[in-house]
Amino acid sequence: ENYHAVLTENRKLFNELQELKGNIRVFCRVRPFLPGQGAPNTVVEYVGEDGELVVTNPTRPGKDGLRQFKFNKVYSPAATQADVFSDIRPLVRSVLDGYNVCIFAYGQTGSGKTYTMTGPDGASEEDWGVNYRALNDLFKISQSRKGNISYEVGVQMVEIYNEQVLDLLSSDNTQKKLGILSTTQQNGLAVPDASMYPVTSTSDVITLMDIGLQNRAVGCTALNERSSRSHSIVTVHVRGKDMKTGSVLYGNLHLVDLAGSERVDRSEVTGDRLREAQHINKSLSSLGDVIFSLASKNAHVPYRNSKLTQILQSSLGGRAKTLMFVQLNPDAISYSESMSTLKFAERVSGVELGAAKTSK
Ligand code: ADP
Repeated sequence: ENYHAVLTENRKLFNELQELKGNIRVFCRVRPFLPGQGAPNTVVEYVGEDGELVVTNPTRPGKDGLRQFKFNKVYSPAATQADVFSDIRPLVRSVLDGYNVCIFAYGQTGSGKTYTMTGPDGASEEDWGVNYRALNDLFKISQSRKGNISYEVGVQMVEIYNEQVLDLLSSDNTQKKLGILSTTQQNGLAVPDASMYPVTSTSDVITLMDIGLQNRAVGCTALNERSSRSHSIVTVHVRGKDMKTGSVLYGNLHLVDLAGSERVDRSEVTGDRLREAQHINKSLSSLGDVIFSLASKNAHVPYRNSKLTQILQSSLGGRAKTLMFVQLNPDAISYSESMSTLKFAERVSGVELGAAKTSK
């Protein structure tokens, strides 16, 4: 009973804070234990339908080790890709109505960021992540509105590695497969120097994602190593012309798979690894700072502090809508990383609940 009273009280607090903080949403997704991972020892004590999450400290059994979090949604390991997308579909669709939207995945390496955003390697349609589903949805709806609004949908894909922006779709190969560069007229929000392609069919979506993923793997020994240290951004630009009035609207969508958020022990790395770690720390903390100052309605928002926040600027703040996926590895071994992920998420969402004063 006591437990429930605390949950109810926290829920009230959360809802009140939600009212204040505008267009930032936080969804938490706990990935399942993977086959062959041994006897599962989970830190996840409780996942509530209202976005409640209780995490337990494996070294402090009992109620003293419990901490409670509250997000807009929490997905248990059983949630499917379709479940997740159905919750964000309205957000994705709002781009066709002229909104700017940013969806990103945050968490340590191995917590399921790429699974959520892209899907597993060689995913079938059922396993498609947010990127495929969003692109597919956008061009399908744009076609269904053809008689009323004439849309152009253009896509860019870049990677930010050590504060450098690399075009993942630039190759003669891409142009052969997808035809000429899109003539989609931009409202000045395109990522500079990155090629843009039109998307008019599901096969375009697949071709484009394939090329982007392949190019991401070029020049590195292991894709996972590289991708865990770079941010990848799929940007969708939409231009819609109202056939009756002639008025034009623009919307854009950034889909971001962030670099792994794990803390690298600085005493143990040097050279390239140290440089990478510093760049990652800087850009992730810049992202946190930007969202935090938006949530606190600060006059100055520090967009210029990293390449990542510069590129995302148009879809962070103002009328833009932002959604963060907080990815968690449920394994007890990851407890301290999971806690730092959850603390980042709390800071971003502006909601801090503290210890779960449970009598459970
Ligand atoms: P990250 O991008 O955070 O480094 P990945 O997306 O590569 O993590 O996920 C790590 C592993 O866990 C991969 O083998 C991935 O397929 C698997 N995985 C992640 N989330 C899920 C999920 N919801 N269901 C099934 N497998 C998952």
